[in-house]
Amino acid sequence: MQATQTISENNVSACEYDYVFCGTGASASLLLLELHQNNLLQYANVLLIDPDKKDKRDKTFCFWADADDPISVDLKSLISHAWDHVALAGEEIEPIWPMRYNHISSIDLYNQVHRLTQQYQWHKINTCADEVGSDEQGPFVCCNGEKIRAKYIFDSRPPVYHPPQEGETHISQSFVGWMIETEQEIKKPNAFRFMDFQIEQQGSTQFVYVLPFSARKALVEVTRFGAETINHTQAENLLADYIQRNFGAYTVADVETGCIPMSNTVIESNAVSGIVLLGARNYHIKPSTGYAFKNMYYHARNIASAIKHNKPVELLNKTHVNAHHHGRHSFYDGLLLDILKNKPQEGKRIFEALLAKVDTKKILNFLDEKTGIATDISIFSQLPWQPFISTLLSRSFVYPWFRPLLLTLMTCLLVLAGNYSAIQNYLAYGLFFAGLVAVGIPHGAVDHLLETGKWNRKGAPVFIIRYLMLAAGMGLLWYALPGVALAVFLAYSSWHFGQADGKKWNFTESVSFLWGLSVLFYILGTHLQETNVILMSMGKVSLPFACSVWALLPWFLWALYHKQTSFFLTLCWLMLSSQLPLLIAFGIYFIGQHSLNGWQDIRRHLQLSHSRIWLHSVPFHAGAWLLLAGFLFLWPLAFPHNDINQWAVFFVFIACISFPHTIYMNVVYRKKG
Ligand SMILES: Cc1cc2nc3c(=O)[nH]c(=O)nc-3n(C[C@H](O)[C@H](O)[C@H](O)COP(=O)(O)OP(=O)(O)OC[C@H]3O[C@@H](n4cnc5c(N)ncnc54)[C@H](O)[C@@H]3O)c2cc1C
Repeated sequence: MQATQTISENNVSACEYDYVFCGTGASASLLLLELHQNNLLQYANVLLIDPDKKDKRDKTFCFWADADDPISVDLKSLISHAWDHVALAGEEIEPIWPMRYNHISSIDLYNQVHRLTQQYQWHKINTCADEVGSDEQGPFVCCNGEKIRAKYIFDSRPPVYHPPQEGETHISQSFVGWMIETEQEIKKPNAFRFMDFQIEQQGSTQFVYVLPFSARKALVEVTRFGAETINHTQAENLLADYIQRNFGAYTVADVETGCIPMSNTVIESNAVSGIVLLGARNYHIKPSTGYAFKNMYYHARNIASAIKHNKPVELLNKTHVNAHHHGRHSFYDGLLLDILKNKPQEGKRIFEALLAKVDTKKILNFLDEKTGIATDISIFSQLPWQPFISTLLSRSFVYPWFRPLLLTLMTCLLVLAGNYSAIQNYLAYGLFFAGLVAVGIPHGAVDHLLETGKWNRKGAPVFIIRYLMLAAGMGLLWYALPGVALAVFLAYSSWHFGQADGKKWNFTESVSFLWGLSVLFYILGTHLQETNVILMSMGKVSLPFACSVWALLPWFLWALYHKQTSFFLTLCWLMLSSQLPLLIAFGIYFIGQHSLNGWQDIRRHLQLSHSRIWLHSVPFHAGAWLLLAGFLFLWPLAFPHNDINQWAVFFVFIACISFPHTIYMNVVYRKKG
């Protein structure tokens, strides 16, 4: 049998294969070498499918590892060059021992596979696989209209990325490299240069990477991290200038170009039983660096071990969740990607600080995700903090635990400040007022947009009259039957609060209502005395019973059972807030939880930016403050003989305007649901 045959010559579709490799690039090659090394291919029927013959050097693969690391030992014969020093700013170099930075030429890797193909007489098809899937008979791959079956199909075709969703980023690492021969000797050829930012940034984050292969030969590569890829003319100008400045006269012996996705978006997946995903398709490219080689090597080892021990190999397929929403390193990757995309001018400052202030071995371990939290903190403490803080704040909607964690810290701080102390008052009421202006009132001042997404000028008078009538109706109820008004207010507020929170934690409608009721009673009931002073002033009503600070215990159990960190943290700060004055506790909930959740839902519903929504809210926002001022003046006139508490008037007003708001917000929640 010939090692390389066409499908029709061979009629491979009639065969059952043990392993079909769809794509024979880096990940597939590493796996084949690993299976061979473990003697798992002796009796295996193997088919390789790839439109590319893999007979050219198309990439260079570099990775760092200790000299006795399995990857360095296993791939020793392929490593064509290794550096044990890294070049820092100027002419300084730093040893990275026991690590080495290794270089493998892709053609050496492919040639190893070609030798195995000859040795084992594997079948090989130089064409594209049209489909990889599974039916009732098991996994299959379609090639030239024929279905080929195998026990395992290893799919390493290039991944297809979904468009980025909220909190996800997709940019590219594009590069152009010249293999140069220099006239003058290269200084310190035993040191590779990781990132040299001494080039024009052109609105992106870009740097030069240098691999000296001898005293007169080096690969010099200009690399851009960014939404836009670097074009060849730009790259060539930068390269020519950089080489002239640093190495003098030179000739170009070879050119390498490439583009690696830097992404934490979802990859389209066909993973089912019998289909094993490899390489970039299996999320092996580290989003913040573009390195994948080591990940692919260790994945290959795990696959070989699973096959050896008859374990299901598909369990090693990654999903978007365990690749990008798992652990703090995915969180760091997400932050950096966000900065590189949205604040590309900050990249140079961040990386230069990192390289200048942190030991290179520490950086490499950090990139390998092998550092502990203390080391991570020591690394971040060396970096400019502003881009990280502003990115963190802008992403606070994305990480569900982030806001509850901030609220827990803030509540702790307010408790520690001491009740009714000047610090507590300034801080809490200052934040409450700022929160009311930023989101508290505005989140209820865009109700006019919720129905259609646009402001309907013709329908405006009817909308405004209807809105004010509903609010006035509530006001009349407070005036005439405050007991009934209180019951109605508690009912629709529980409904409304529960709706906003429940969607976040995937509660059913009834659980949402129960939660809304609990949270409202908890805040009021753990401050019974203060609550009743206000309620008496609102209309001679009172809450009949107090609430224990432990009343949230069943919800804690719920959060633990459902492993909901953000819900758990929310319960923590709610419990702490029982130790604060009523208005502060209510303010934290109303602004920090309810209004921000509502704002997030409105934003998703309207598909508008924060600033646009806020600007749309201005007319009704301003109207609300005017109404409040009028209300504060007029309401006490209706009760000339009573000693009216201003906070009570404020709450009657809130109860009145939140009634139509609750009704209009239903549009948002009904649509989402
Ligand atoms: C230029 C370049 C340099 C890189 N350098 C490094 C580095 O130094 N260190 C590092 O860690 N990472 C590096 N990477 C990132 C990563 O290691 C490589 O992208 C690596 O090749 C990914 O391996 P893979 O098997 O997923 O994809 P590939 O190696 O690209 O293999 C995919 C194969 O699928 C084939 N194919 C395509 N369509 C079909 C189809 N329909 N049917 C069948 N086959 C198909 C392709 O021809 C290809 O051979 C580099 C990437 C690039 C682009």
